[in-house]
Amino acid sequence: MKAAAFYEYGPAEAMQYADIPDPDVGLTDVLIRVQACGVNHSDLDSRAGTSRWPFELPMVLGAEFTGTVVDVGAGAGPIRAGDLVTALQQYNCGGCGQCAKWRPDLCEAFEIFGTTRWGGYGELVCVPARVVVPLGPEDDALAVAAGQCVVSTAWHMVNRLALVRPGDLVLVPSASGGVAGALVQCAKLAGATVIATAGTAAKAERVSALGADTVVVRTGGDIAAGLLHATGGARFDAVLDTVGGDLFGAHLSVLREEGTLVTCGAHAGEVVPLDLIPLFRNGWHIIGFRLAPPDDLAASLELIRRGAVRVPIAATFPVSNAAEAHRFLERRQHVGKVLLVAE
Ligand SMILES: [Zn+2]
Repeated sequence: MKAAAFYEYGPAEAMQYADIPDPDVGLTDVLIRVQACGVNHSDLDSRAGTSRWPFELPMVLGAEFTGTVVDVGAGAGPIRAGDLVTALQQYNCGGCGQCAKWRPDLCEAFEIFGTTRWGGYGELVCVPARVVVPLGPEDDALAVAAGQCVVSTAWHMVNRLALVRPGDLVLVPSASGGVAGALVQCAKLAGATVIATAGTAAKAERVSALGADTVVVRTGGDIAAGLLHATGGARFDAVLDTVGGDLFGAHLSVLREEGTLVTCGAHAGEVVPLDLIPLFRNGWHIIGFRLAPPDDLAASLELIRRGAVRVPIAATFPVSNAAEAHRFLERRQHVGKVLLVAE
């Protein structure tokens, strides 16, 4: 098959679209001809060698993809050639001590497409049948490939970590990003009132369109005061943060007593100001998002298929030009998801 593989770490050009051996299809595997594959920011780090994962090279990136089944192992079950499918982007082994205790999220042999095994940046991807999710002809292959990572992250943060309940007041800072946009939608589905922030009026309009009740445009002034003004002085039950950075302390400061801040990203800065005195006086909880377990991946795919959570698509590139897709993402001027599509 042809794939955009890389044999050593480097700039976008390190990915060469060329022939590599077809994956071996085991007894319980299916082989998928990829139709669309999501490009994630972590892919750029993986290719550059700055992620903290030990990669076995060559690597074919691509955690989330959709495509058509072209080959099925003899013991792979009911999936048939010709079926439109996707797959859980990561999965547990099912056999270790943690899996035996129903903690797939703590599995000792976790597999992630495009990280621990080849993913969807190629013509073909081999997938264990048990992680395949069948789709129907009515499903939008691009939307499904675009949404699993961001929607599952958001869904897990809202429902499993922040435990958002109907009537809660939730803050989503910098909500024009991919995960943040999904957080706005998932928090609304959970019944919350959602206040978001955005850097410009144009971005604020897009965030409003996702369902945020109020969007506060950052003007460089006191953001905590601006947020409390927007809520009429009420403090937040939860802050769902994807950016970190200098405003982390201000976002934390508007939580109610025993409120929860969940963090999953740090594009605005990885080391943040943190005043410990109000942290313990208010009993605030700060929780890190680690990963979305299989149940939440499946739930997120269902939300995407029903159109309950939408992930805007910024651009598509042919998989033969994956390097250009990476350069596009590196410029950080897009809004929405970048996809690779079959020629
Ligand atoms: Zn396991």
